[in-house]
Amino acid sequence: MSCFDTVRVRCICGTDVDFQSKGGACDLKVYPAHKVPVGVAAGCDADSATCPTCGGIVSINVAQPTVAMEVTVDAPGGDGDDD
Ligand SMILES: [Zn+2]
Repeated sequence: MSCFDTVRVRCICGTDVDFQSKGGACDLKVYPAHKVPVGVAAGCDADSATCPTCGGIVSINVAQPTVAMEVTVDAPGGDGDDD
C-alpha cells in the first residue's frame, strides 16, 4: 500500500498542481505550499511537474533547515569509565 502526503502548489495560471511526498508522517494529508511540515517538504524537494493546463514547469525548492546533532563516541578498548 502506498502512502504519501500531498503538497498542493498553485501554478501561475491558477491551476493546482499536486506533488507527492514520501517524507513526513505519510497520513494522506494535503498541504498548501505555504504551510508544509518540514519532513513532508524535504520529501518533495527539487521535484518538478508539468502544469496540465498551461504546460508550465512547476518546480519546488526547499531551503533545508539545519539542526545540531548530539554526538556520542564510545572509545574502543579500556574498561574504565573514569573520565
Ligand atoms: Zn499552469
